[in-house]
Amino acid sequence: MVRPIELIPLVCVQCSTRLPAQPDEVAWVCPQCGQAQLLDDDDGLTPLTIRYAAGITPGSKGNPFWVAKGQASLRRETYSGNKDRDAQVFWSQPRWFFVPAFNCSLETLVGTGARLLLQPPQLQPGPAAAFEPVTLPLADVTATAEFIVMAIEADRKDKVKQIQLKLALEPPALWILPRM
Ligand SMILES: [Zn+2]
Repeated sequence: MVRPIELIPLVCVQCSTRLPAQPDEVAWVCPQCGQAQLLDDDDGLTPLTIRYAAGITPGSKGNPFWVAKGQASLRRETYSGNKDRDAQVFWSQPRWFFVPAFNCSLETLVGTGARLLLQPPQLQPGPAAAFEPVTLPLADVTATAEFIVMAIEADRKDKVKQIQLKLALEPPALWILPRM
């Protein structure tokens, strides 16, 4: 007898209410008790603190971002039009990374991530709000942040040949930001 595949429903770590989990989602707020939680490949479901920024229009959804401070160190090689000095100055201090955690195109992900890194918003805490599904796993944040750095460097007005990048990222927090 062939048994049907059984999907194990995700239940809240605090009150055991079934979570309204959709495929590809990795974080939820329990509809019963309000506990936020994150699904991790290694650790399973664990409690999560979600931070809400001020400015989300009441009744609308905010966008989730993984936000972390990171120190990039990079070595650039260029064919011509050397902008290495600009790059060195820019990355000489830690920067705040805003990695889109919602489902979006690669273009949007990199474009939004680069724009917010170059002009970081001031995060003022605000009331809890609904938000778009969180689909970018925590485990993918560093690689995505590196991708954003590479996009910024490729965008400098010189002919970059090669970039060696090391990025030390602090543990990210999940922020819900107003749509921009
Ligand atoms: Zn709950």
